[in-house]
Amino acid sequence: MADQIITRFAPSPTGYLHIGGARTALFNWLFSQRHGGKMLLRIEDTDRARSTTAAVDAILDGLTWLGLSWDGEPVSQFGRVSRHQEVVAEMLARGTAYKCYCTPQELDEMREKARAEGRPPRYDGRWRDRDASEAPAGVAPAIRLRAPLDGETVIDDQVQGRVVFPNKDLDDLVLLRSDGIPTYMLAVVVDDHDMGVTHIIRGDDHLTNAARQKLIYEAMGWAVPVMAHIPLIHGPDGAKLSKRHGALGAEAYRAMGYLPAAMRNYLARLGWSHGDSEIMSTDEMIAWFGLESVGKSPSRFDFKKLENLNGHYMRATPDAELLLHWKACLAHVDGGESVLNWMALPGNEAKVLAALPGLKERAKTLVELTESASYLWRVRPLDMEEKAAALLDADGKAILAGLLPHLTADTEWSLASTEAVIKAFAETEGLKLGKVAQPLRAALTGRATSPGIYDVLVVLGKDEALGRISDQTR
Ligand code: GLU
Repeated sequence: MADQIITRFAPSPTGYLHIGGARTALFNWLFSQRHGGKMLLRIEDTDRARSTTAAVDAILDGLTWLGLSWDGEPVSQFGRVSRHQEVVAEMLARGTAYKCYCTPQELDEMREKARAEGRPPRYDGRWRDRDASEAPAGVAPAIRLRAPLDGETVIDDQVQGRVVFPNKDLDDLVLLRSDGIPTYMLAVVVDDHDMGVTHIIRGDDHLTNAARQKLIYEAMGWAVPVMAHIPLIHGPDGAKLSKRHGALGAEAYRAMGYLPAAMRNYLARLGWSHGDSEIMSTDEMIAWFGLESVGKSPSRFDFKKLENLNGHYMRATPDAELLLHWKACLAHVDGGESVLNWMALPGNEAKVLAALPGLKERAKTLVELTESASYLWRVRPLDMEEKAAALLDADGKAILAGLLPHLTADTEWSLASTEAVIKAFAETEGLKLGKVAQPLRAALTGRATSPGIYDVLVVLGKDEALGRISDQTR
């Protein structure tokens, strides 16, 4: 199918899958899904000193967690060096590239001179037209692109619009270094061409590269892919995204308790919009995604928005599915393993599932869920949070001591029966319901806030609940 749309995500494996990369991957994925095309994955690992397999694994893991799939095996750019060299040989044969024998000192002098004259440092083309017979003996040449000297190179960018680069600003870039190593600029073009990429969607920090890369396509007589350079993500204050702002890896978001579906929705809205829609299912995003509705100005990363969206997704996710995401989060946080071990014991998962509807109403992240669910696995006698301890003063303890026999007498132990017992007790004692519920909540959970108190009583079960209350009345 000649007209199939092929996008690609091309991360450099020098760290985790950061949030900007995740959004680039998402846009490529949405676009390819929208058009029934493919998204390929290329690992740009030519920087051998900085590329690590751990980083490749982290990127694949991050994409998988986000629910983004790619077609075929990931392509290693480093594995394609001989193909890059082959293309350069072809360019030499066509005369669209030439050998440059400049020494590092000469290049330094060139840069110095340009600086002194207030010009940008550009290669002066001194080997462009020199005859091969002038080559110094024993010097390995670099291969440079014979770039056009006049005119302009135009990128009709799907996001940025028509961007014009005067060719005099684009010098004869190096394609192959004198040690035979292809440059990044060349490798990207050859790989995109060979992989059949039809649409390049990436951060707008690559826009100037696009002009240089276009010259390489033209030098080879290859079709230039459609380009879309998306504005970078900034912090809420408009400054460049920092760690504090959320410039973190995907695994950090998993550990902070965000759901992949919420992340996808949030990231999609970072730079792209569909009318006023804020909450969009993945299917809707696929159906609606288009480069024409990607904004031109940088989007702002806002943790509060992400949190609210995540809270929405938590409430909307069926309990059994939410539990799976919760476990995935627990597997990646400190202290999570002991909770997982507790959940694995007979009967405990049923307790968790019984508590989940009440718990997820309040939690914005899976980490908050863990926190508010912790009453389930706390062991007697419970450690009291300061505010909870304050509720268990002499009055509080006296109320619990009065309530205890009534609860003990409740043989039904349901939401309705415990509610009836507690309300009747409050009424006969002339107490407001809160006066009873507060010390009770403290005794049962060790906290001053919790899901609904009848929920807690029922989920804990009669024996455990009465035990926790009597711990506080002794
Ligand atoms: N490897 C580049 C990066 O991680 C992306 C190059 C490209 O998309 O063309 O920024």
